[in-house]
Amino acid sequence: MGRAFVYVILGGGVAAGYAALEFTKRGVSQGELCIISEESVAPYERPALSKGFLLPEARSPLSSFHTCVGDNEERLTLKWYKEHGIELVLGTRIKSADVRRKTLLTAAGETISYKILIIATGARALKLEEFGVSGSDAENVCYLRDYNDANRILNLMQSCAGGNAVVIGGGYIGMECAASLVINKINVTMVFPEAHCMARLFTPKIASYYEDYYKSKGVQFIKGTVLSSFDIDSNGKVTAVNLRDGSQLPADMVVVGIGIRPNTSLFEGQLTLDKGGIKVNGKLQSSNSSVYAVGDVAAFPVKLFGETRRLEHVDSARKTARHAVAAIMEHEKTGEFDYLPFFYSRIFTMSWQFYGDNSGEVVHFGDFSGSTFGAYWVSKGHLVGSFLEGGTKEEYNALAKATRLKPAIEDLAEMERQGLSFALTV
Ligand code: FAD
Ligand code: NDP
Repeated sequence: MGRAFVYVILGGGVAAGYAALEFTKRGVSQGELCIISEESVAPYERPALSKGFLLPEARSPLSSFHTCVGDNEERLTLKWYKEHGIELVLGTRIKSADVRRKTLLTAAGETISYKILIIATGARALKLEEFGVSGSDAENVCYLRDYNDANRILNLMQSCAGGNAVVIGGGYIGMECAASLVINKINVTMVFPEAHCMARLFTPKIASYYEDYYKSKGVQFIKGTVLSSFDIDSNGKVTAVNLRDGSQLPADMVVVGIGIRPNTSLFEGQLTLDKGGIKVNGKLQSSNSSVYAVGDVAAFPVKLFGETRRLEHVDSARKTARHAVAAIMEHEKTGEFDYLPFFYSRIFTMSWQFYGDNSGEVVHFGDFSGSTFGAYWVSKGHLVGSFLEGGTKEEYNALAKATRLKPAIEDLAEMERQGLSFALTV
C-alpha cells in the first residue's frame, strides 16, 4: 500500500521550497504535489544556519528563515503548504528508488509513486573518517549541514564560552563558522591544508585581506597541515587536536567543514551521473524523462561557459528549481536554462559577491587596505569572472551584467586602472 502523486520532490531543502512556490504560481492542483524530506522541519534557507542563526544577539529563529524569504518571496510555513494542498512528508528518509516503476520506498516501508520526480537531495558533509581520521562521533565534534547540526553547534558554543574551538577546513563552512564562533567570544584556530583560505575561489591577495581581518579579531591560522588524530577523554569528549606537523591544539569544541558529496546514491546505476551529480539537460531533465534534478545534486549545462557544472550554492538551487518546474509545467514554452554562476558570503561586517568563473589571469582593483576592492578574471581575452567586497546593490548588479556580457579585454593594465568603473560602464 502507498500514496500516489503527480509530482514528487525528493528532498526538503532550499530547492524544494523554491520548486513548491513555483508550482503554486503555475497552478498546481490540491493533492498533486508531495515533498519528502528526511528533515523534520519545512524547507528553510540553509545559508542562515552559519550566519544569523549562530549569532548571540538577535538570533534568527528557524521560523523566520523558511523558504522563500531569501529571495524576498513568501515565507512558506507549514500552514502555507496545507493551504496549497501540498503534502509535506517530513522526518522521512527514502531508502530506495525505482525510476522504471516510478516509485520511492521510505525507510518505514511505504511506497510513494509519482508521474514526475524532482530530485533535490542536496549533499552530505564529508566526514573525517573518509580521510582516515576517527572521532567524528565525539560529543564536541560538529559538522554543519542542517538545522540539527546548527543547534548542536549553538549548544556547544554556549557551554564553552571563553574556551577554545578548532575549525578544520578553510572553505565556506570554516570561514563562516570561525566568524560566528569569534562573535560568540570563543578562541578560534583554523587548520587547513592549503596556503591560504578559500583556495578554490580566492586569489592569495584576496585571501590575505580576509585572513588579516580574521587575525585582527583573534583568529589564528595554521596552514599547510591537516588533523591527524584527536585526544578523547573518558567522557567521549575531544580535549586536544593533533596535527600532522606534530603540533597539538587544546580544544573545547571542533567544527569540521571539509567539503560535501552530493546525495546521488539512490539513483546510481539508474540515471546518468556527471561531475559527481545527476546529469541533466537545459531543462533540468535527467537521462530518464520523468526525472528532473535541481540544486547541489544536479550537474547542468552552463551555456555561458559551454560546459556541464555542478554548483553548491543557494542561488543556483533556487533558480534550477524554478526552471525545472517551468519546464515540467510548460515544457514547450520553456527554453534552456541560462545561468550566470553566483556565489556570496557575509562574514563579520564584510560581504562579498562573485559572478562567473575564476579562471585565467587576475586583475585586482580597489583599495585592499580599505573596505571596497575586487578582482576580474580574464580568460582567452574575455572577462569571465568578477569579485567585489563591500559593493552597493547597483555595483553588484553592474558586475553581474558585465560578466554575463563577457566583453573582450585587450589591456589588463587599463582594466586595473579603471577598476570598478570598468564594470559600471560596460
Ligand atoms: P539542501 O538544501 O541540502 O536540501 C537537501 C534536502 O534533501 C535535505 O532536506 C535532506 O534532508 C533531503 N534528503 C537528502 N536525501 C534524502 C533522502 N534519501 N530521503 C529524504 N530526504 C533526503 N550557498 C550560498 O550561495 N551562500 C551562502 O551563504 C551559503 N551558506 C551556506 C551555509 C551552510 C551552513 C550550508 C550547509 C550551505 C550554505 N550554502 C550557501 C549552500 C546552499 O545552502 C546549498 O547550495 C543549498 O542548500 C542547496 O540546496 P538543495 O535543495 O540542493 O539541497
Ligand atoms: P569547501 O569545499 O568550501 O571547503 C572545504 C575545505 O576543507 C577546503 O579548503 C578543503 O581543501 C579543506 N579540506 C579538505 N580535506 C581536508 C582535511 N582532511 N583537513 C582539513 N581541511 C580539509 O566545503 P565546506 O565544507 O566549507 O562547505 C560545504 C558546502 O557548504 C559547500 O558546498 C559550500 O558551497 C556550502 N557553503 C556555502 C557557503 C557560501 O556560499 N557562502 C557558506 C557555507 C557553506 P581542498 O580544497 O584542498 O580540498
